[in-house]
Amino acid sequence: MSKKLIIAIDGYSSCGKSTFAKAIAKELNYIYIDSGAMYRAVTLYAMRRGFIGTDFLNTPGIINELKDIHIEFVHNPDIMEFETYLNSGNVEREIRGVAVSSYVSRISQIAEVRARMVELQRQIGVFKGIVMDGRDIGTVVFPDADLKIFMTAATDIRAKRRYDELISKGIQVEFDEVRKNIIARDITDENRDISPLRKADDAIVLDNSRMTVEEQMVWVRRIIQKKLHGS
Ligand code: C5P
Repeated sequence: MSKKLIIAIDGYSSCGKSTFAKAIAKELNYIYIDSGAMYRAVTLYAMRRGFIGTDFLNTPGIINELKDIHIEFVHNPDIMEFETYLNSGNVEREIRGVAVSSYVSRISQIAEVRARMVELQRQIGVFKGIVMDGRDIGTVVFPDADLKIFMTAATDIRAKRRYDELISKGIQVEFDEVRKNIIARDITDENRDISPLRKADDAIVLDNSRMTVEEQMVWVRRIIQKKLHGS
């Protein structure tokens, strides 16, 4: 049987981690896991239960109901992609919206939420042959990952990509709102006490500010070939 890798892709918000991770997974026929979608699903659950708002956060309420939060990735053959399900309901669209984006970094700071998500992510990882993207995949979830990539790009370029993505999905937003949200999430993600966003010592940095997805693929193919075949 051919060797299978665990590939960890971390980095700042909206620098194209999921597009890149999906393209790698497709090429290698690996499973792609969007760990951010899991934190977004927990956030949506907390919003629906009234546990979070602009000026309040009921942390014990969320912790108490973590056992009732079931997250799955279900393949949609129409678009040939996996979609996020929360307690059997498709929440793919809702978790990408502005409301969830504005609350998710507060939810992802809760130690118990992180512990549960990491546990689920590691369960998926036992299969190998996976590409997982997030903030702490190379540092905490899979510190022994075969390949770790840390992605970054200029703030305005990231904001523009995210804005275009939301508009293309029919989600109405203001560019400035998107830009502010990205900056705020980066600050919260980098400065939280538990598993802050940081580059693993053995991660390779990829600044894709001026790279197309295909250029990124050319770059990563060589690295993957080396990992798989040593040449
Ligand atoms: O990747 P995405 O932007 O969808 O992630 C949403 C949020 O989830 C991040 O801003 C971060 O607060 C949290 N997150 C995290 N750890 C991960 C993935 C996402 O804390 N591994």
